[in-house]
Amino acid sequence: MFTDSHAHLMCDPVYENLDGILDRAKKEDIDTIINITIDKVSLERALNFSTSLVRLYHTGATTPHDVETEGERFFPSFAKAAKEGHLVAIGETGLDYFYEHSNRDAQQEYFIKYLELAKECDLPVIIHCRDAFPDFFRIVDEYYNRESVLMHCFTGTTEEAKEAIARGFTISFSGILTFKRSSDLRETAKIVPLEQTLIETDTPYLAPQSRRGKQNEPSFLPETAECLATLHNKTLQEVAIATSVNTERFFHLQSS
Ligand SMILES: [Zn+2]
Repeated sequence: MFTDSHAHLMCDPVYENLDGILDRAKKEDIDTIINITIDKVSLERALNFSTSLVRLYHTGATTPHDVETEGERFFPSFAKAAKEGHLVAIGETGLDYFYEHSNRDAQQEYFIKYLELAKECDLPVIIHCRDAFPDFFRIVDEYYNRESVLMHCFTGTTEEAKEAIARGFTISFSGILTFKRSSDLRETAKIVPLEQTLIETDTPYLAPQSRRGKQNEPSFLPETAECLATLHNKTLQEVAIATSVNTERFFHLQSS
């Protein structure tokens, strides 16, 4: 019933225990997961992995954090996987000026390269954007100019959410939505139309409030869905179905 639109299942702390993690996901009714690969190892693991427990789809890109050191090395692997039809989206890509682990020039250069790859392959993009919205909107308008943009783990302001919604973008909320201190983000979530909303765990990071500090996993997703349901005055099931349908549509899953 639930769809986790963003999990890093092939990264080390998760991959070793993946059978148990997917088993628990199935027990909690998580039936579809979008797995995000970020380097050559996680990409290769993804392409060689199969399971009957959930429907699993893959995306890939070097994150904005790592483009300065790994961007050049891994871009050809992601481009090849995308062109061969193994990926349902390009990303996560974007800009992170909060941590600024990579310099801003490198982040912008690779963000543009990944947007162009997505256009070439006719794929949607998953965006990581932190403290960089003016540059993000400027670049995405110039180099992508399509609605198939997913703002993953959204933590921006209501104004930034409105700018994204006006462009037809989709917004995904993680366990951060459930944190005690996230009252501003919950107000923002209320103004995002449910048809443009997805939910995610961002496994292994950002476990929801009742499990803070633990390694996150897809089976923890219902807590975020419950929070969103309260904000929209919907039932848990209505939110589970709406966000699953939205994910299906955004990534064109029926046809892949
Ligand atoms: Zn992520």
